[in-house]
Amino acid sequence: MKKIGVIGGGIIGLATALKIQNKFPHSKVFVFDKESKLGEHQSGRNSGVLHCGLYYEPGSLKAKLAVSGIQQMTKFCNEHKISHDICGKIVVASNFIEEKYLDNLALRGKKNGLKNLKFLTNSDLNTREPNVNAIKSLLVPEEGIVDYKMVMHTMAKIIKKKNGEIILSTKINKCRNLNNKVIISDSKNEWEFDLIFSCAGLYSDRNYKNLTGEKPLLKIIPFRGEYLMLKPEAKKLFNHLIYPVPDPIYPFLGVHFTRLINGEKEVGPNAVFA
Ligand SMILES: Cc1cc2nc3c(=O)[nH]c(=O)nc-3n(C[C@H](O)[C@H](O)[C@H](O)COP(=O)(O)OP(=O)(O)OC[C@H]3O[C@@H](n4cnc5c(N)ncnc54)[C@H](O)[C@@H]3O)c2cc1C
Repeated sequence: MKKIGVIGGGIIGLATALKIQNKFPHSKVFVFDKESKLGEHQSGRNSGVLHCGLYYEPGSLKAKLAVSGIQQMTKFCNEHKISHDICGKIVVASNFIEEKYLDNLALRGKKNGLKNLKFLTNSDLNTREPNVNAIKSLLVPEEGIVDYKMVMHTMAKIIKKKNGEIILSTKINKCRNLNNKVIISDSKNEWEFDLIFSCAGLYSDRNYKNLTGEKPLLKIIPFRGEYLMLKPEAKKLFNHLIYPVPDPIYPFLGVHFTRLINGEKEVGPNAVFA
C-alpha cells in the first residue's frame, strides 16, 4: 500500500487528496495543515463564487480547469447536497474602454465553451438589475455561489471515510529523501511517505525553500481582500452577482457585489498587501 502525504488543507489539498484516493483506492492518504481548522486561509475566506472560465485565455490550462472545475464542483455539490445556487453573473462595462474589454471577454467565454452568454439590452438589464447602470453588460448564466466551507468539510469527511487522515495544527517544516521514501516532519514528529504533494497556497514559495533548501522559482506577493457586508435595507439593490470588467493591468477581478449562500450580500474585495 502506497502512503501519500498532502501538505495544505485548503480546497486544493483536500481535492488533491480525494482524487488520489479515487484513483488509487489502496493508497493511504494523509492531509496536513498548520492551522487548527481546515480552510482557514483563502479557501474559507473568498467570495464563494463558482467561476466558469470566462476570463482565461482559450486553450490554456486555466481555461480548461475552470470549465471542467465548475462542472465537477456542481456535480459534487448535488451528490452531497451542498448548498449552491447557479444565480448567474452580470459583468458591467462602465466606459468605452471597458466596453472593448467586455467584447473580448465575451469572445473568450464563447471560445471556452460557456453556454448562453449574452449581451443584455438596456431593458433586459433594467428588468434584472434596476439599480445597475452600464454602457454594456454581459450575462453569464452558468456562474453561481456555493458554501466552500461546507465543500471542504464534506471532502474531509469522505477522505476520512476512505481511510485517510487529516492532521491539523501541524506545520510541516522539513523534508528529506531516504531510500526512495520522503520523510517530512514538524517540530515534534516525522512521517514517511512514498510521495508528497505540496498544496500550500500562498506559502508555496516559503515551503519550497524550507522543504528543498533551494531558492524558489517564483516569489508570491500576497494580498488580503477585505469585504463589506451590506446592511439589510441595501440587500435588495442587486439580484445577480455583479462584476466590473477586470482591468488587465491588475491580476484581480475587481470589486464585485456578491450574494452569499446564507442570504447575506457583500461587496469586495479590495486588495491590500498582506
Ligand atoms: C479575496 C479572494 C477572493 C476569492 N474569491 C474566489 C471565488 O469567489 N471563487 C473562487 O473559485 N476562487 C476565489 N478565490 C481564489 C481561491 O480562494 C483560491 O484559489 C483557493 O482558495 C486556493 O486554495 P489553496 O488550497 O491553494 O490555498 P489555501 O486555501 O490558502 O490553503 C493552503 C493551506 O496550506 C496550509 N499550509 C501552508 N503551509 C503549510 C505547512 N508548512 N504545513 C502545513 N500546512 C500548511 C495553510 O494553513 C492553508 O490552510 C479568491 C481568492 C481571494 C484571495
